[in-house]
Amino acid sequence: MTSADKDSPLIFVVEDEADIARLIVGTLAEYGFRCETFGTGRALLARAKRMQPELAILDLGLPDMDGLQVLRELQEQHPCAALILTGRDGLTDRVLGLELGADDYLVKPFEPRELVARVRSILRRYQKAATPEPGGHSAVRFAGWHFDIGRLNLVADDGREVSLSAAEAALLQTLLKRPNKILTREQLIGERELDPFDRSIDVRISRLRRKLEDDPQDPKIIKTVYGAGYLLCAAVVWE
Ligand code: CA
Repeated sequence: MTSADKDSPLIFVVEDEADIARLIVGTLAEYGFRCETFGTGRALLARAKRMQPELAILDLGLPDMDGLQVLRELQEQHPCAALILTGRDGLTDRVLGLELGADDYLVKPFEPRELVARVRSILRRYQKAATPEPGGHSAVRFAGWHFDIGRLNLVADDGREVSLSAAEAALLQTLLKRPNKILTREQLIGERELDPFDRSIDVRISRLRRKLEDDPQDPKIIKTVYGAGYLLCAAVVWE
């Protein structure tokens, strides 16, 4: 009954409730995704050492560890796109999840078709982020950093490496395409549904600043233009 083949995107699902795990996997398989499920955070992390998924769907209430910790370890070791799918709908979990690099947050009970729509949207963004520029550029230099678009990683002049999540890489790419110009929140959100209360752009900007070691109190690379948006202040050289 599954139309998934070996070229379909691979999704890891950590969910300790068997019925919900079956619902998630059944839904995604119907739409052509390959899934592997895990009942504990440790099991997923162990598997991720050998096989890297394109997306991880994470429950937060797990028997062995908090899903946010799974996300933290996953992003440190094997960054991939991530969707939090949880019964917890507190603002703290949501903001923390986004700060840790999650691409989206969906609260249970969920509509299977909504899950598919979110998964597709994340993977589209991820593929866009990992696709070299039309001009054939696969890397870019700016402000003392070298950004490898395909590998979603940043290398500083001193050789230190920093990994970006798919969402952060997409956001950085949007900023780099139009340096020294003010971009509104709407322009930065891109294809995401517009929600004026959506703070995820601000959360991602602050996370990106931390990774770029851009002082949030006095940022030199990504500047906040109050009431307007953000501006990347740097000379940008595409390679
Ligand atoms: Ca659970």
